[in-house]
Amino acid sequence: MIPYGRQEITQDDIDSVVAVLQSDFLTQGPQVPRFEQIVSQHVGAKHALAVNSATSALHIACLSLGLGEGDWLWTTPITFVASANCGLYCGARVDFVDINPKTYNLCSQVLEEKLEKAKQENRLPKILVAVHLCGQPCDMEAIYNLSQRFGFSIIEDASHAIGGKYKSEFIGSGCYSDITIFSFHPVKIVTTAEGGMALTNDDELASRMNLLRSHGVTRDQNLMTHEPDGPWYYQQVELGYNYRMTELQAALGITQMNRLDAFVARRHELAKRYDELLRNLPVITPWQHPDSYSGLHLYVIRLQLDAIKKTHRQVFESLREQGIGVNLHYIPVHTQPYYKEMGFEPDAYQQAMQYYREAISLPMFQGLEDQEQDDVVQALKTALEIGRDS
Ligand SMILES: *Cc1c(COP(=O)(O)O)cnc(C)c1O
Repeated sequence: MIPYGRQEITQDDIDSVVAVLQSDFLTQGPQVPRFEQIVSQHVGAKHALAVNSATSALHIACLSLGLGEGDWLWTTPITFVASANCGLYCGARVDFVDINPKTYNLCSQVLEEKLEKAKQENRLPKILVAVHLCGQPCDMEAIYNLSQRFGFSIIEDASHAIGGKYKSEFIGSGCYSDITIFSFHPVKIVTTAEGGMALTNDDELASRMNLLRSHGVTRDQNLMTHEPDGPWYYQQVELGYNYRMTELQAALGITQMNRLDAFVARRHELAKRYDELLRNLPVITPWQHPDSYSGLHLYVIRLQLDAIKKTHRQVFESLREQGIGVNLHYIPVHTQPYYKEMGFEPDAYQQAMQYYREAISLPMFQGLEDQEQDDVVQALKTALEIGRDS
């Protein structure tokens, strides 16, 4: 089976993790701050906070921005559930903004109309989670301008987008948002097994997230609310969590980061090959932003169902049967049973539903060989029944 995504682990990665195992610190040692520094320098952010998953990063990002009961968090329905769940963790309510049919990211025009309506109804969001689906950046300039006009904070869920650029700036530089999140799950571009990171240019937000990732406990006298009793003293000043990343994970992240540029470049090579190989097939290949650079976590095609005799499900099943580990990113979040019970109507987001009926993620990872990619394309032709009885 050719999977849709797979990590690349070299001897270098293995050696660095083994070296940590032989060192004094398995957690809370020098590797985590080193990893943070490497990522923040690479993307041009002032602060980086490594945590045990992107989901944890989203949670502490929301908390640090003051999200709580009575507030709203908005995001796109075409994302992993974590982009929305973080709002629920904080006791806030969640709503969705339909996608742009070309980029598959949340549509800034739909967002503007929804904001105008929400303003009249006095239910403006406190936070918008902008997800860079497949690594393709959202329309950040427009979203940022709306945030200034309507007064909400922006979290970029860049779980798919490390190594990519929006215009001339690396994603994570925070030019158009308060906090950016990366995921280091093995299917993503860079991996630490499990892991995530929150980046910000705001000292206050960084300080709050730093507390929240480690029980709300501090040894920093400046953050203490009471006079310390002695040198043994630590204080819990708010309710935090244990979301820390281990030294093993950070060491892996450091050696992976050495190859980030090569990873993304290879993904672009593969995307270009797919674009060419699929050109005459009844599928829509991904649109690429002309002056941005996608991280290309995913390569999603849309079936032109009018032009083929098969259903979406049949094509998907045929690919799986032929050993191609295709996937569907994503089932619209508002149709998940947990969200449906909150009263979301499936038809509320027409573009998202249309996308869901047509989308298939083809294998896309740095270790994918040209020959394997050719096999994927051949399997797709077979699934579409092209070149068989015609
Ligand atoms: C993978 C992913 C997450 C969650 O990442 P974890 O590190 O597994 O918690 C969140 N949002 C998006 C868009 C993702 O793809």
